[in-house]
Amino acid sequence: MRALVASLLLAIVPATAVAAPSTTATQRVGNLDGVAVVDRLDASELAPGQVHRFWFRAGESAIAQGWYVPVIVVRGAHPGPRLLLTAAIHGDELNGIDVIQQLVAGIDPAKLSGTVIAVPGLNTPGLLHSTREFVTRDDHAADNLNRLMPGDPDGGAAAAYAARLWRNLLRPNTDTTIDLHTQSRGTAYVLYAFASNARARRIAELIGPDVIKLDLGVKGTVENEMVRDGVPAITLELGAPEVFDTAMVKRGVAGIRNVMHEMKMLPGGATLPVTGLYGATFTGNALTQVEAPRAGFARLLVPLGSTVTKGQPIATISDAFGRITDTIAAPRAGVVNTVFTDPRREAGSVVARIVYWSDDPACRDGC
Ligand SMILES: [Zn+2]
Repeated sequence: MRALVASLLLAIVPATAVAAPSTTATQRVGNLDGVAVVDRLDASELAPGQVHRFWFRAGESAIAQGWYVPVIVVRGAHPGPRLLLTAAIHGDELNGIDVIQQLVAGIDPAKLSGTVIAVPGLNTPGLLHSTREFVTRDDHAADNLNRLMPGDPDGGAAAAYAARLWRNLLRPNTDTTIDLHTQSRGTAYVLYAFASNARARRIAELIGPDVIKLDLGVKGTVENEMVRDGVPAITLELGAPEVFDTAMVKRGVAGIRNVMHEMKMLPGGATLPVTGLYGATFTGNALTQVEAPRAGFARLLVPLGSTVTKGQPIATISDAFGRITDTIAAPRAGVVNTVFTDPRREAGSVVARIVYWSDDPACRDGC
């Protein structure tokens, strides 16, 4: 992989004359293996009825070479809304890359109304290092890009990288945003959407996930900052990290196509409900995390996606000799939307998460 990256970087042909900076127009600054390199993108300038590909230069590494982010723009032959799809802002969360690549391959621009702006891999250094974080040489700092939006040009490598993405690529090219993730290392999600307002909930429902969590949003996420700016957005979590999960990806592609039908970007209407692996979508507004009471080897007693009752045993912890030290019970009834996949659990590490509906008025829209 490193040799490939090196050859890609060597293949960059620097622009000899760069046009004067504009605040809105696309800025082409070079060429990388036959694909235009841009510092700024305005998808509305691109020719309709075609697929366009770019490398977006999102920053520079400590060896003065660019960090490049792939961008695919499917510019429909007919006018319509702009749908932004992003993946792998956490560099070990790969299913969204496959969703975008397969979704885009299946869209005929001649039949598309509007524009799909797809970014299959936001966190280039994280992808290279197989890590959730944005990795820099700056004291080996590791930042969570999905807490840094809309970024800060003067805030260090990660914040500046986030600012370029936000200002020059993401925010100027969207009317609706779906940000694709998975659970973190050692754990897995069901197909799971966060939604923080009515339109986001509708988008989530059209995808047909197993679980929707109504949520007030987390500052600095792509989803939250889009919603704060008036752009409907969801975070969609697809299973486990570090894999292309064929079944999960297929559901993601079908779900987003369903959203595109509802948005009149594709011919034909949306269909509801899209049934999840576990039946109908469960919508909750509260979540509890179940943690290992002590270190050891965990064994799961209920499958991911299970509906559990309060007090139901959901996992055991064993010591190094296989002796069960703890049986962990569900603290409340709900749907298990996360489980561990790596049995090695430190004390306090997540064993499961349970989404449920709370009647507390303070939790009406998520807590
Ligand atoms: Zn993530």
